[in-house]
Amino acid sequence: MCSETTVAEEPNYNCPKCKDEGGYLVRKKAGETTLLQNGTEVILQYDTEEWQQCECAKIRQLNRLIKSSAITEEFQKMSFKNFSTDDVHPKVVEMKSKANQYYAAFDEIRGFRQNSIMLIGQPGCGKTHLLTAISNYLMHAKQVQVLYFPYKDGMNNIASNNFERKNEIMDRMKEVEVLFIDDLFKPIGGKVDVKPWQTEVIFEVVNYRYLNNKPLLISSELSLDDMLYIDEALTSRLFEMAQDFTVTIPKDMKVNYRLRKVFEHR
Ligand SMILES: [Zn+2]
Repeated sequence: MCSETTVAEEPNYNCPKCKDEGGYLVRKKAGETTLLQNGTEVILQYDTEEWQQCECAKIRQLNRLIKSSAITEEFQKMSFKNFSTDDVHPKVVEMKSKANQYYAAFDEIRGFRQNSIMLIGQPGCGKTHLLTAISNYLMHAKQVQVLYFPYKDGMNNIASNNFERKNEIMDRMKEVEVLFIDDLFKPIGGKVDVKPWQTEVIFEVVNYRYLNNKPLLISSELSLDDMLYIDEALTSRLFEMAQDFTVTIPKDMKVNYRLRKVFEHR
């Protein structure tokens, strides 16, 4: 017997626009134009319903392309609630509160130039966790599309097969409602090694988003000085866009969550 109280649960779709169908039907009236598969435009003789691919399908494709599966699974679990601030550096507490404020202000500021957030400095203190939490809330609660671009893997993807998909990926990075660049200019083996084509890609994308007031979520373990040294024009745009929501975590071993576990067990 199904006598338990039925709890009406909020449907939890990744994309509330199309309810994860990948598209939706759009009504078209006779006299309107439609595109045939071969690209020709024709005038409709009758009222009709057309299947329209949802934006999220393209983003999902790209997210699949760029993300490693480990990140994909972990991604959805990250929230503000499970970001612990017990016994952490005060700057980490500040960082969480900034992330909260940013999410609360998002609707108000998204169309303006100062519409972005940048968490920089010490690796391992939860920058990615907080920006991922913001991404999750934006996607699920506000139906905002977020493209996740982990710098190192994303750059490898752009370069793969002789830059075959470079333009496609860059177009999506420019046009998506919110772009999350994780670990910008990530050093390899403690050394910053950024190729000119990589700064060109990032600058072109950031500059486009700067000019069109499109929000960015940025994490980087470099300091602003390091970033200025790599590309001044790029860094000044990032700094302007994220000026109200920039937190720098000082380089201090004790701030590092992953390392803290090691210290505790000594
Ligand atoms: Zn959709």
